[in-house]
Amino acid sequence: MSAPTAEVVICGAGIAGIAAAYHLAVRRGVTGVVLVDEGPPLSLTSDKSTECYRNWWPGPGDDMVALMNRSIDLLEDLAHESHNRFLLNRRGYLFVTADPAQVPVFVERAKEAATRGVGPARIHDHASSDYEPAPADGFEDQPTGTDVITDPTLLRRYFPHLASDTKAVLHARRCGWFSAQQLGMYLLERAREHGVRFVEGRVERASTRPAGACAACRSARGAATCASRRTAS
Ligand SMILES: Cc1cc2nc3c(=O)[nH]c(=O)nc-3n(C[C@H](O)[C@H](O)[C@H](O)COP(=O)(O)OP(=O)(O)OC[C@H]3O[C@@H](n4cnc5c(N)ncnc54)[C@H](O)[C@@H]3O)c2cc1C
Repeated sequence: MSAPTAEVVICGAGIAGIAAAYHLAVRRGVTGVVLVDEGPPLSLTSDKSTECYRNWWPGPGDDMVALMNRSIDLLEDLAHESHNRFLLNRRGYLFVTADPAQVPVFVERAKEAATRGVGPARIHDHASSDYEPAPADGFEDQPTGTDVITDPTLLRRYFPHLASDTKAVLHARRCGWFSAQQLGMYLLERAREHGVRFVEGRVERASTRPAGACAACRSARGAATCASRRTAS
């Protein structure tokens, strides 16, 4: 029997491994991709998630915002491609305060987030301000950035379920929920259609040290001749 071979072996069929298999096989046309997991796909961490996403990330720097904007672009592409099989929505994240001292902090946070690529800050401090609430489903044609509502009339109108002493809400918009399990199943199905094989089994850690090499520096000269042998552990 000839030994099975692969061009690419991906260890782990959680959402990260399955996404890698999908992008290699479906988007890049790579052949000979094998996905190995000791359990069923998406059964360790990836089925425990709250399944929320956000581009609302604090600094310093804008690295996380840039990473998440790119990731959300990819999610939205996949939602279009799959007819939104994984129910991506854009309901946003809502931060609420009853502390008057926090109101200017909310405004400042929204303005500062805009400078890091989260999207524009809209401050609603009068009753006729044009705050746009988020629909329960879907993700298209929604604003990005942040809405901060400080006007009491607007707060009561749009958030009647909040405590009556609520002073402000900060609504981060490019955020929401989707079924990561359904997304994973969709990516896995597409990957398998493009030749990815799933193999159930455990990947053992391969030694990167040649037989007889020094444990400290991995030199093939061997421990007997290696200068660092006294510190080897
Ligand atoms: C309670 C909870 C809530 C969360 N909420 C969110 C959220 O709202 N938003 C968000 O973005 N993230 C959230 N996360 C994080 C998110 O779920 C994880 O980051 C993600 O699922 C990790 O995916 P993964 O593929 O890296 O790992 P895993 O899903 O753990 O997959 C790794 C796979 O590798 C396999 N494996 C490991 N070693 C071997 C081996 N030697 N041989 C063969 N197979 C092996 C395992 O069996 C497993 O299937 C949450 C996590 C938890 C626990």
